[in-house]
Amino acid sequence: MSRRAKIVGTLGPSSNSVQIIEKLILEGLNVARMNMSHGTHESHKKVLENIRQASRNTGYEVAVLCDLQGPKIRVDKLEENLKLQNDEIWAIGSLKKAPKGFEDKYIPTTYKNLVSDAREGARVLFDDGLLEAVVEKKRKDFLEVKIIEGGLLKSNKGINLPDIKVSAPSLTEKDKEDLIFGLKNDVDYIALSFVRTADDVKQVKYLIHKLRKSTPIIAKIEKPEAVDNIEEIIEAADCIMIARGDMGVEVGNHLVPHIQKKIINLCNSVGKPVITATQMLESMTTNARPTRAEANDVANAIWDGTDAVMLSGETASGDYPIQAIKMMSKIVEEAEKNPKERPLLRNTDLRSISASLQVASSLVAEKTDARWVISITQSGNSCLKMSRFRSKKRVLGVTNSLRVIRKMCLYWGITPYFFESDPESLSNLPDQMIEKLKKSNLVANGDKVVITHGDGKYFKQGTSNSIRVEIIKEPQKNISEDQFIEEKIDSGRIILDTAVCASCQNCVQVCPHNIWTYDKKSGTGIDQTKAMSCTKDMECVSKCPTGAIEIIDTDL
Ligand code: PGA
Ligand code: MN
Repeated sequence: MSRRAKIVGTLGPSSNSVQIIEKLILEGLNVARMNMSHGTHESHKKVLENIRQASRNTGYEVAVLCDLQGPKIRVDKLEENLKLQNDEIWAIGSLKKAPKGFEDKYIPTTYKNLVSDAREGARVLFDDGLLEAVVEKKRKDFLEVKIIEGGLLKSNKGINLPDIKVSAPSLTEKDKEDLIFGLKNDVDYIALSFVRTADDVKQVKYLIHKLRKSTPIIAKIEKPEAVDNIEEIIEAADCIMIARGDMGVEVGNHLVPHIQKKIINLCNSVGKPVITATQMLESMTTNARPTRAEANDVANAIWDGTDAVMLSGETASGDYPIQAIKMMSKIVEEAEKNPKERPLLRNTDLRSISASLQVASSLVAEKTDARWVISITQSGNSCLKMSRFRSKKRVLGVTNSLRVIRKMCLYWGITPYFFESDPESLSNLPDQMIEKLKKSNLVANGDKVVITHGDGKYFKQGTSNSIRVEIIKEPQKNISEDQFIEEKIDSGRIILDTAVCASCQNCVQVCPHNIWTYDKKSGTGIDQTKAMSCTKDMECVSKCPTGAIEIIDTDL
């Protein structure tokens, strides 16, 4: 996969089976989102098992994101749909029975504190903002509201209160149970809905630590209050989600694009991953193709600098879940071919040795046209830090922990790679790793890889102080033989340093006179009978990635 930004896909009735999840993974799903607003613990447990099974079947890990519902306010169960008409006065409250005088004009809600939280003049929005009312009068245990934008209101539809400071705790009782369920089942990320302050995040972090876990928290930004407190929230959270659905309802869709750019910028500048979410390919819920506007939206989020893009209904309950992932992947890959300039490093503190080594290694990789920057990591932390520098070359995050592999699935530009070293032979670890990379077709002879390491130590955390460019080559054959193969040509010589040659066969390919030879047993060589036809155009010298070829021209 050459895509750098990651794809989060929500699972649901359209995509819960092992077979579909396998296909989603093969089309590029990186993070599977379980939405706790729907389903039971039993059904979620089954989905989790299916995700892990699909990973085993395909050989690709994905992270599991457990998205807590938060204090979502809803219309209660209705006997029949309500017809709200403009300018009518309705009652709304958590009373089981309609108050006197409002028998046929009562909207019951699940939210107990609505009346005490509300104030006159505040908006009450229903069904993703399609219907709107405004508080006219606060009564003892209900509100009188005037309908501004009428329509048909159905059971369980969401209610948004953009002008009201909602007093409900951001972690509800249901959220607590769901959180414990998620932690018990080793999910990789926890998302918090309707976060308002950094404290909301800190409290949950404390709870997670109390339960002896360190699962990272994604703060969903969807309340105007959260937008106001964004800097502190970014600092407190491990990751941010721009939840454009509820945000659009609460602040107005016209303000969302600017807020999206602002949040992405802030996250980029402090190195926190950010997910852009909701309605990215909405029309693919029912169509096999997205609209032009949707394709633009995804590409622009990439150019804004988002770490990941997310699908919700498209993959959870849509008709084309697999096509949606495939299409998203394609749009992202195309957008990444024309990247914006690398974010300036001016805001970045490069005083730490590891940070400056990371920046330097990504530059070395770029300048030497290396295939990979290899970052060996125990906790995933160094890869997270690496991710923010938006290295132009891909970064292989090598670790021996499955948990870390999954966590890194969300990190921009990081390809997680599982490598368990042989404890018997700690000395030649890089060689072992490179042999395995070759077997996985991630490197080939002639490729360069950039590795950071400490004095002789490759797998020890916090010891890195050097950058090494490794050229992938066959293990040296016939060491006892001459290191240099030399052949006379017209006014000069061709010299091959076999100790440096990677047997990539670039020289064999570029020489029109078949001077260069290769066979598996003896490696690269020079055909003595053809050497004299060398025209010294230096093509082989320039194509040799390791500098193993020298052509000496005595005419010069
Ligand atoms: P939700 O969050 O899908 O859980 O509501 C995303 C959003 O509001 O955009
Ligand atoms: Mn939401």
